[in-house]
Parts: sequence; C-alpha cells; structure tokens
Amino acid sequence: MQLSELGEFGFIESIRRAVGQPPDRVLLGIGDDTAVIDIPGPMVLLVSTDAMVEGRHFRSDWISPREIGHRAAAACMSDIAAMGGTLICLFATVSFPLQWTAEQATELAEGLNQAAGAFDSGLAGGDTTTTDNGLFVDVVAVGEVESDGIWLRDGARPGDLVFVTGTLGDSAGALALLAAQYPQARDEFPALFEALLSPTPRLAEIPALRRTGAVTACIDISDGLVQDAGHIAAASEVVIELSAPDLPVSEQLRGCGGALQRDPLMWAAAGGEDFELLMAVAQENAADIIAAAEETGTRMTQIGRVCEGTGVELRDEDGRTIQIDSGGWNHFRQINH
Ligand code: ADP
Ligand code: MG
Repeated sequence: MQLSELGEFGFIESIRRAVGQPPDRVLLGIGDDTAVIDIPGPMVLLVSTDAMVEGRHFRSDWISPREIGHRAAAACMSDIAAMGGTLICLFATVSFPLQWTAEQATELAEGLNQAAGAFDSGLAGGDTTTTDNGLFVDVVAVGEVESDGIWLRDGARPGDLVFVTGTLGDSAGALALLAAQYPQARDEFPALFEALLSPTPRLAEIPALRRTGAVTACIDISDGLVQDAGHIAAASEVVIELSAPDLPVSEQLRGCGGALQRDPLMWAAAGGEDFELLMAVAQENAADIIAAAEETGTRMTQIGRVCEGTGVELRDEDGRTIQIDSGGWNHFRQINH
C-alpha cells in the first residue's frame, strides 16, 4: 500500500498499534500533543518533537534563516502549551544544505534560541549534519506540568463549551498571498506574515488558564481547526459542533479575503499552523476562562459546544452543515488549503 493511501494519521495509528503498551514510566506515549513521562515528585515531564522540511513546510525564498528557527521552535513549543505545560528547554537537529553559509546557520540557531528565550527558556543541545537536499530541522521540546492537571485530548464531555485563543487562518492567508504572488503583501498584511513566519505559541497564557481549573481537553491547532477538533472529538468520543459565524477572523484576514476574492472562513476552518489553543471547558467555568484570557491580553472566543455523537460539525448561522473538502493538512496526502 502506498503511504498516501494510508495517510499520515493512518500511519500514526499503525505505529501506535505496533508499539502497544508504552515503555515503563511513559504514562502516555503516541497519541496526544506530547508524551508524558513519570518523574519523582508532583510534576510529569512532557516531550514532543516536530520537524520542518524545506519545500514541504516552507520555501527558502520567502522565509529567513532566523524565521525558520523561530517557526520550528514555535511549532514544537506549542505542543507543550497544548498540554497545559511549562517549557523547560529545546533540542534542535539541523541538516544544512551544503550551500548554506555559516552566518545563515548561526542565524537559524539564534532564531530557535530566541523563540524559546521569550519564555525564559532556550536551546539545550541538538545535532548538526549536512544534506544534499533541502534544509531539515527537527526540534524536541521538553516541558513539565503537575501530574494531576494535564490537558489531554480525551477529556471533553457533552455539555462542555469549545473555546479558541487568538484568531484563526492568518497563517493560511499569508500562504495564499504568497501563492498568488500578491504585490506588496507583507506591507499590506503584516499580521498575517507574522503569524506565518514568527508565530507565538500560547505558553504565556498557560498559568492564568490553568489556574481556572476549567479546561477539560485541549489541542493546539497545527493542522487546521476542523481536523484538530476531530482529534479531540475522536479521543473524547463526542461530537464537536463548531459555529462558523463565531470563528475569530482578524481584520487583516478579511482584507486578504477581499483582495484575493476568497472566503476567509475556509482559511479559519481548515488552514493549518495557527498554533492557537482549542479547548473544551465545562459550561459553569466559561466566565472564568474568558477572564483568565483577558488577564493575559489574549482574545478568547467561544466557537462551539461538545455534544453526544462523533466527529466535527461546522454549521452556518442557520444551523446548516458546511462541508470542508478535507480537514486540513495531512502529510502523505499533501492536502493543504
Ligand atoms: P502534533 O500535530 O500535535 O505535533 P502529530 O499529529 O504530529 O501531533 O502527532 C500525533 C501523535 O503521533 C503524537 O503523539 C506524536 O508523537 C505521534 N507520532 C507522529 N509521528 C510519529 C512517528 N513517526 N513515530 C511515533 N510517533 C509518532
Ligand atoms: Mg499539537
């Protein structure tokens, strides 16, 4: 069978079955945003790895070495946030194409380290090779969280409300501008390019959000809202009903939709790499989670609810189901919006 037939998630499921029981002291192996490892004391260790490949995740003519480092770090740190965790440090393995200069390589490492520095953390090691092909960066993030307060994907319950931080689709909008070779795109839509090239994972918001004790399930949006909501729905055995008119769309994304004559809803619903947190929250705690986000200056929007059933439903203002061709980004199938 071709990998493209199995799909990225089919492949992950097949490894999960092959591995079976995770090793001793690994409380949670394959299947959530990070693995969870038992250590002495009240905390558990969180470990996640995330790769970025030239030609697949980025093209070197539209991103600088520093931004590549920043972005690779952000994508991996975001998985620590998705578990409600605090970042400890990063490791980075980089395969540099032979034509890269020492200055470019150093900039990339600085980008990685600075991205973690924003959260009082940094690089603690890695590995370096060269390659005949495009740049390859793999980042490992290590974090920690109280063992009795981990935000897993499987805790959403019917009756919970669904919230998301920030705005959705900005990064996908920037990609669409690049694909359309829209002139002066960066000057006209700087926030979209910041979301694409220098995203900020939601680690700074974690302490305030955790204090509420309100989050029942969480995932970071890396593959697109609908697809990632699907992971919570599957793990929690519920249906997640999302309200399209409530999806938080930035002014710049609306402008971008107008400029490219596209509906920004598709970017918000299925564009990847938002690195926002999608959370299920018990109804009685909704006000607390909004107050906690306000405390950090971050937008928090209720975009749906959890009900009995399976899958994800995206509905328009009249309650009709909106079809999304495919759920977002899936490696091997190479579907992107
Ligand atoms: P995320 O989008 O949060 O980074 P992924 O969709 O990449 O998560 O991965 C989902 C789960 O599958 C994670 O627990 C991850 O560790 C695991 N996983 C992905 N690829 C592999 C692999 N090649 N081998 C083992 N586990 C994997
Ligand atoms: Mg994730």
